[in-house]
Amino acid sequence: MMTFGYKTSLSEGAIKCPLFQTSTFVFESAQKGKEHFELAYGLREPKDGEEQGLIYSRLNNPDMEILEDRLAVWDNAEACVSFASGLAGITTTILAYTKPGDCIIYTEPLYGGTHHFLEHELKKWDVHAIAIPAGVRLTSKHEKRVREQMDGRALALALVETPANPTNRLVDLADVSNMIAHLTADQDPKRRVPLCVDNTFLGPLFMHPLEHGADIVLYSATKFIGEHSDVVAGAALGDADVLMPIRTLRTFLGNMLSPMDGWLLMRSLETLKMRMSISQQNARVVAQWLKDHPAVTHVHYLDLIPANHPMRDVYDRQCLGSGSLIAFEVRGGESGAFACMDRMQLIKTAVSLGGTESLVEHPASMTHAGMSTEDKARLGVTSGLIRFSVGVECVDDILADLSNALAHL
Ligand SMILES: *Cc1c(COP(=O)(O)O)cnc(C)c1O
Repeated sequence: MMTFGYKTSLSEGAIKCPLFQTSTFVFESAQKGKEHFELAYGLREPKDGEEQGLIYSRLNNPDMEILEDRLAVWDNAEACVSFASGLAGITTTILAYTKPGDCIIYTEPLYGGTHHFLEHELKKWDVHAIAIPAGVRLTSKHEKRVREQMDGRALALALVETPANPTNRLVDLADVSNMIAHLTADQDPKRRVPLCVDNTFLGPLFMHPLEHGADIVLYSATKFIGEHSDVVAGAALGDADVLMPIRTLRTFLGNMLSPMDGWLLMRSLETLKMRMSISQQNARVVAQWLKDHPAVTHVHYLDLIPANHPMRDVYDRQCLGSGSLIAFEVRGGESGAFACMDRMQLIKTAVSLGGTESLVEHPASMTHAGMSTEDKARLGVTSGLIRFSVGVECVDDILADLSNALAHL
């Protein structure tokens, strides 16, 4: 994360990759310019050792490309395409693989912005989105229900979020792969139906979906990858040929990562492992502490999944750690939750997650406010639920703040 993909000799010996805040790049000669375009437009195969030359910052830029090379390392991916936001990466991936008359399947619950895009924007393009549940093993009963809703449409893509926000419900990627195989058995076998996994919550440290059958890994790099709460960015990772339609569409939508954001994310990646490890260590202590507190009625945290729960096996097989997101329910519903949040001093109330600082938010009235009452009940988004993104502060300070905030409930 400190040196990969960067040649000091190309930047006056600078130890760090500089910020290439430039819109365009001067060609060595007209002939070189022609060659760069031949590769960029796929007019010929690269010669031995020939690399894509720099052209224009909507197509490529050193801060974007070196960041992409480094991000690919974590997930052992062949390639990476970076975006101006997590949602830009998700929506570009979906648009690149769907056409009018198709349908896609997605696990529920899903990040609010993604859900809105699937249920409202995609409908305008005559692409239907069909929900399958997170937190349960998928059976032939689920498959039958999806098939009925497909109503003869071709399946174009599957989008999975695991663990799901806010209650950490898991999805077994093997179950979804099987479902895709069954649902596409009578489709054109040449058509690729990618399994896409939004790995924002556990990745890139604690889950590697490409090793579990996923074709594309998606990130909001705004969260753990950025982790300083000063960048909005996203990425898609996978095999180069799988990413090609996404890379091409990015060029024409123009929703690529900016040089400045690439530069900031490279700074973040150097200490990513340390920061994510410390947040996780803190979260494990905090989850245990919350579980035993009399004002807390329920704690949703991956480490606390009971041994006999069907999702325990999925957790053990698929995840390398429990991460640092906890959802806990306090006594007293919304007023109990608000009183607790407003008494916190160190821990701030804000949406977003995965930053160095501890943040809480109230899903029922904030991130998940758009959900119907029935959906909230079905998905466990109760009025007393608080989502807690545990930061890297001293854990004793976090516990002292929590203890004070919960003392009067
Ligand atoms: C934040 C988030 C997104 C959206 O990312 P932006 O960078 O805000 O566009 C998508 N998925 C998940 C799971 C998220 O937490």
